[in-house]
Amino acid sequence: MLKNMFSLKGKTTLITGGNQGIGKCIARYLADAGSDIVIFDLNDATKTAENIAEEFQVRAAAYICDVTNPTMIKECMNAAVKKMGGLDCLFNNAGISIHGDTIEAKPEDWLAVVNVNLNGIYHVAQAFGRYLITNGKKGTIVNTASMSASIVNIPQIQPSYNASKAGVVHLTKSLAVEWADKGVRVNCISPGYMKTEMTARETKELRDLWISKIPFGRMGEPDELAGAVIYLLSDASTYTSGLDMIVDGCYTVV
Ligand code: NDP
Repeated sequence: MLKNMFSLKGKTTLITGGNQGIGKCIARYLADAGSDIVIFDLNDATKTAENIAEEFQVRAAAYICDVTNPTMIKECMNAAVKKMGGLDCLFNNAGISIHGDTIEAKPEDWLAVVNVNLNGIYHVAQAFGRYLITNGKKGTIVNTASMSASIVNIPQIQPSYNASKAGVVHLTKSLAVEWADKGVRVNCISPGYMKTEMTARETKELRDLWISKIPFGRMGEPDELAGAVIYLLSDASTYTSGLDMIVDGCYTVV
């Protein structure tokens, strides 16, 4: 009973930003839960997809797709549906961050972050929802927001990131209500500081400062998000939509 509830067997999940970091890590867990895998990333994720297919004995495909480009998303989604025979779940995860003082910031930096983190989430969710609803299919979406949607990180200055992630949380709730009677559930996860390529780019001094503010006393491993994503994508959460699940080692609790 319990195993079936969390199983993704017979499903195909699209993961954006799945060539590294959280996306790549979660893609492996979704495959382990039985799902076939489709990766959209700016970079060619063919090798990642091949490795997942071999390790978990599922089907996997990869497409170079910029989530800020609705035409490209449509083309890649059509190709993925044709190749895989359909799509059922979406882990809408690609995101970027640019730090910088607001007084000094260039307009293009603001636009770049909002374009990937908020517009990108919207464009992919829209194309996926459109595909499901016009085909009379049910499905589930998990968007990646951030604890930065609820708090302002310090000491780094990142208003574009924080605002874009707050937008993702409310977009999630809005789509959850809009599609509630269509059998499409939309939730999001809000990770705290996780060990990925994104955070590895920062200095050790900054990471140590973050760690000193996290009640758990450490950054999270991307693996520690897998349970939340599988719960929200699977039949274990059939009465849950519009939820923002914060997974942050207690950072936002204090
Ligand atoms: P990474 O930078 O490690 O991975 C992000 C992936 O998304 C990369 O492969 C990247 O490609 C890809 N990507 C970036 N822009 C686009 C685009 N326009 N279209 C398609 N793919 C794109 O980040 P994380 O794994 O750390 O982060 C994943 C998500 O989790 C993001 O939304 C992030 O904001 C969020 N998050 C991360 C936290 C953390 O501490 N790491 C905390 C809270 C939330 P490329 O490498 O070429 O840029």
